[in-house]
Amino acid sequence: MLFLDEFPEFSRNTLEALRQPLEDGDITIARAHTTIRYPASVILLAAMNPCPCGYLGDSRKPCKCTPPQIDRYMSRISGPLIDRIDIHIEVPAVPFSELRSERDGTPSSSMREQVLAAREMQTARCANEPTMSNGRMSSKMIRQHCRLDSASELVLKQALTELGLSARAHDKILRVSRTIADLAGRENIAPDDVLEAVHYRRLDRQL
Ligand SMILES: [Zn+2]
Repeated sequence: MLFLDEFPEFSRNTLEALRQPLEDGDITIARAHTTIRYPASVILLAAMNPCPCGYLGDSRKPCKCTPPQIDRYMSRISGPLIDRIDIHIEVPAVPFSELRSERDGTPSSSMREQVLAAREMQTARCANEPTMSNGRMSSKMIRQHCRLDSASELVLKQALTELGLSARAHDKILRVSRTIADLAGRENIAPDDVLEAVHYRRLDRQL
């Protein structure tokens, strides 16, 4: 697992070099006399602010950035790199009342059980396939294992047309929809699963 905090602060070359491992799960190093390929199958987690001052969209404090400053900041992460990241979400600041709340969220132990059950479904489904992970499904596997009913198909079509998403984003939405259905213990993908997966393509709409 690779966690990069302050994602846009890394150099453009460093960030662009992530494209190959994210896409192929390995990395090729070329030197004068030889080329070596190393396995580099990582789970990439990256965090960034919504703008240089960090307060864009925050109800507690106004953002001081100008639109060109925000554009420059966001453009440090290229569209092709964002395209290769499965899930983008906005994490708003936690309000004080919630920090002090007595109510507990879902405990890690029950989340773990949910994940293990989903992995079991994937293992059973993909027993004869080259990969058992939804995130690594090829286009051929997606066609076979992420079948949509007509209502889900319509949701996907509308999202792709309205948001102008790429073919890669299309495949990612289907893989993530499959995982959402697996986490809920359902064999069929529902329209809401597709809608949720589309919401996780948030940055496609900004870059
Ligand atoms: Zn700002």
